[in-house]
Amino acid sequence: MTDAANPFESLQEQIEDAAEYVEVSADALERFKNPERVLETNLSVELDDGSLGVFRAYRSQFNGDRGPYKGGIRYHPGVTRDEVKALSGWMVYKCAVVDIPYGGGKGGIVIDPRQYSAAELERITRAFAVELRPLIGEDRDVPAPDVNTGQREMNWIKDTYETLENTTEPGVVTGKAIESGGSRGRVEATGRSTMLTAREAFSYFDREIEGASVAVQGYGNVGSVAARLIDAELGADVVAVSDSSGAVHDPEGLDPDAVKAFKNETGSVSGYDGATEEFGNDELLTLDVDLLVPAALENAIDGDLARDVEADVIVEAANGPLTPAADDVLRERDVAVFPDILANAGGVTVSYFEWVQNRQRFSWTKERVNEELERHIVEAFDGLIDCYESYGAPNFRTAAYVVALRRVLSAYEESGSWP
Ligand code: NAD
Repeated sequence: MTDAANPFESLQEQIEDAAEYVEVSADALERFKNPERVLETNLSVELDDGSLGVFRAYRSQFNGDRGPYKGGIRYHPGVTRDEVKALSGWMVYKCAVVDIPYGGGKGGIVIDPRQYSAAELERITRAFAVELRPLIGEDRDVPAPDVNTGQREMNWIKDTYETLENTTEPGVVTGKAIESGGSRGRVEATGRSTMLTAREAFSYFDREIEGASVAVQGYGNVGSVAARLIDAELGADVVAVSDSSGAVHDPEGLDPDAVKAFKNETGSVSGYDGATEEFGNDELLTLDVDLLVPAALENAIDGDLARDVEADVIVEAANGPLTPAADDVLRERDVAVFPDILANAGGVTVSYFEWVQNRQRFSWTKERVNEELERHIVEAFDGLIDCYESYGAPNFRTAAYVVALRRVLSAYEESGSWP
């Protein structure tokens, strides 16, 4: 991260920018800029050596006007209350832009999971699930994986919830293993929507994506899948990828699967012997490429770094990778930015399909999941472009927020006020 922009302030600024194009009263806007409630708790858990670990954890339920709160749970030492609030707000507008019937929520534990054993992580996750139990449920709030959490943590939360509630309710979380009620296509869904957004963006600009050069920052769940699909399904050349250890580069194109296999084996992309050179993260972000995909964490590109970005198009796979100052600089410099709330919405969209399948007790094929996902992302992309062109929004992000804010506002107004 290159600057200390507060992600919650970034979110509020993004909503204010969109509100200029939406008829919304100042009072109602306050509602759409702030969470409805935030749980803050300290989890006390016995560690393997018999000592007591105390871990701060949060769950923010930002807005439920369009349906149950929905959003992931992050394990990271950098988790803060404001970060969780911001991430929960982004979920509201993300679900609205792809038009799925959810509100937004997000959770996090302040922890570096690499410092703890699997047994400790299970106890910590179950302790959090106990705190979450009164707040969650398939019609109330539906957690999912985020940074450093995955199927394993979702299965633990589901099991704790079902045991305490004496029921079976697989739709209480999404992102589960297939055997526990997960959906086919969920693991790769966020990378897939990133790839689809890149495809649509290049087509909108009448540019060939086949043979285009691509750099991907962050080589985890999202970045590695996005890289693989952009290479395999669009024929673009992924020339550089990075993770927290640094970046690897080959101007002729890397093999995304081989880099992933190397990272699985060694824990990082650094040292991958198929690359021609290695450098730091900022250099990857300023590489002269056709497409840049930030897929790590918030605030990767600030106003200063944005002046050195050489990419023509940015597709945001991570949540909040650009600060508002970076947005302003990139707009002046004519770099097209396709926002996170569209590009990475594949995860929550397939989470929605998972939840639908859980409620139907009927599984879909992977082909059906991918077809439905493509329909949602392409329709959302077209809606965003429509709004961008007809309302003269300054950039694609504001256009996406205008579409989303209108939908949230309508749901709020149509339900009337009570008491
Ligand atoms: P992950 O933990 O699997 O991967 C994150 C990657 O980023 C890791 O490879 C890590 O090494 C790398 N990274 C961390 N700091 C870095 C830095 N300074 N420079 C370069 N790389 C760095 O997490 P993920 O699930 O892939 O999530 C990545 C982003 O996508 C997050 O912003 C998350 O909120 C967002 N997102 C994830 C999903 C999902 O389905 N997993 C859905 C929507 C959005």
